[in-house]
Amino acid sequence: MPLVLYDTWSRTLRAFSPIRADHVGLYCCGPTVYDHAHIGNLRTYVFEDVLRRVLVLNGYSVRHVVNITDVGHLVSDADEGEDKMEKGSRRTGESAWAIAERYTAAFMNDWRALNLLEPTLWCRATDHIAEQIDFIAEIERNGYAYRTADGIYFDTSKQDDYGFLARLDAAGLQPGKRVAPGEKRHATDFALWKFSPPDTERQMEWDSPWGRGFPGWHIECSAMSAKYLGPWFDIHCGGEDHVAVHHSNEIAQTLACHGTRLANFWMHGHFLMLDAGKMSKSGGDFVRLATLTGRGIDPLAYRYLCLSAHYRSNLRFSMEALDAAQAALDRLRRAYVQWPEGGAPDDVYVDRFRLEVDQDLNLPRALAVLWDVVRSDLPAATRRATVDCFDAVLGLRLADWKEDVAAIPADIARLAAERERARAARDWNAADRLRDRLKTEGWQVEDGASGQVLRRLDKAQ
Ligand code: AMP
Ligand code: ZN
Repeated sequence: MPLVLYDTWSRTLRAFSPIRADHVGLYCCGPTVYDHAHIGNLRTYVFEDVLRRVLVLNGYSVRHVVNITDVGHLVSDADEGEDKMEKGSRRTGESAWAIAERYTAAFMNDWRALNLLEPTLWCRATDHIAEQIDFIAEIERNGYAYRTADGIYFDTSKQDDYGFLARLDAAGLQPGKRVAPGEKRHATDFALWKFSPPDTERQMEWDSPWGRGFPGWHIECSAMSAKYLGPWFDIHCGGEDHVAVHHSNEIAQTLACHGTRLANFWMHGHFLMLDAGKMSKSGGDFVRLATLTGRGIDPLAYRYLCLSAHYRSNLRFSMEALDAAQAALDRLRRAYVQWPEGGAPDDVYVDRFRLEVDQDLNLPRALAVLWDVVRSDLPAATRRATVDCFDAVLGLRLADWKEDVAAIPADIARLAAERERARAARDWNAADRLRDRLKTEGWQVEDGASGQVLRRLDKAQ
């Protein structure tokens, strides 16, 4: 059975096969780093990570490119309002550059905490200004750009199928009104380059053939994906909100410059929802990964929660659902650590799991197969080896898990702390006595690089 993926362009499930033999090109729109990522954003990256892992499971090597938007994304998608970076700068009193640095680092922390595979390449918009200028110049040479008072705009009326990805009725969107010279001509036209306002000094601005200013939001993805994956690659991903504007505009630009629609497959993750509506960076209910860990939730429990819903359905977030995900993950870990190594995976279950993930990443059903294995009467070592295969896709790091301190009874924790103090005081006799004492209580203590680690004896063996 082939890998089947849902393609937003064709609105169908299609069998996947790569354009080139040597690698699958995967481009994922990354964060705008004027604030922390919220867990809704992170849901989209979990979906993309699972996609990558499933591609690897199918034997493909993946060239995964993720951009960092550190300039030019305006508060409104309609090219009006402030640049999000400059706005963030005013909010916090830091420079736009410092903000980009800080939130990029915070984003990478979240990325690692969720066990997302490191992209082959991160690329920042501000490191690719020259490429964006070249791209715009080519669009202009091909006759798709015009100048207004505040920037260089893309003329969407020049493409009959503009907005096809979103099934936009471009004719219906055109205002049909007479526009004054110097204004944007059609409702769907968008900025390729914005001029720095004459009266204010921007922190991020560059010289260009059209004047000093900064790139529009969409051009970075067209320019950087073409640079690193070529103008025709395999899969382009993002959240569902990108279909109508950002991705439609990326396609318009790349068609005008290279004659391709960037990617063979367009894939979109659906939203994480709150009772009040979608979770958004500008909304009040802004839940970060740190909000969850502050409540004692493991980031991987949030990952588990994401896996429990199909990426093409909305996921309603609640603390109850998250607690249930944490409880399920805990149960899974406790079962897993009991199973010895050295077995071989069970082919029948591995095939069942493959069938589910290959069917447009049906992770909820793949998790059901996982629980069937946990409850099965397969030998314990077989269960472990089988679940190890699954975890290459699930990314729950089951093999790395160790009982955490919170699960250690208070009297044992006291003995362990005493031993740590004895070691610090180089009182080796006392430390050894306490090690023996812990052993008789059923706990083994190991001294690792980052301090001592406690394991329950029956689980350590
Ligand atoms: P941004 O940093 O705002 O550019 O968004 C980063 C990614 O998160 C994009 O792929 C968005 O489509 C996606 N996204 C935004 N809000 C949500 C949400 N509530 N649920 C899932 N994905 C989202
Ligand atoms: Zn993008």
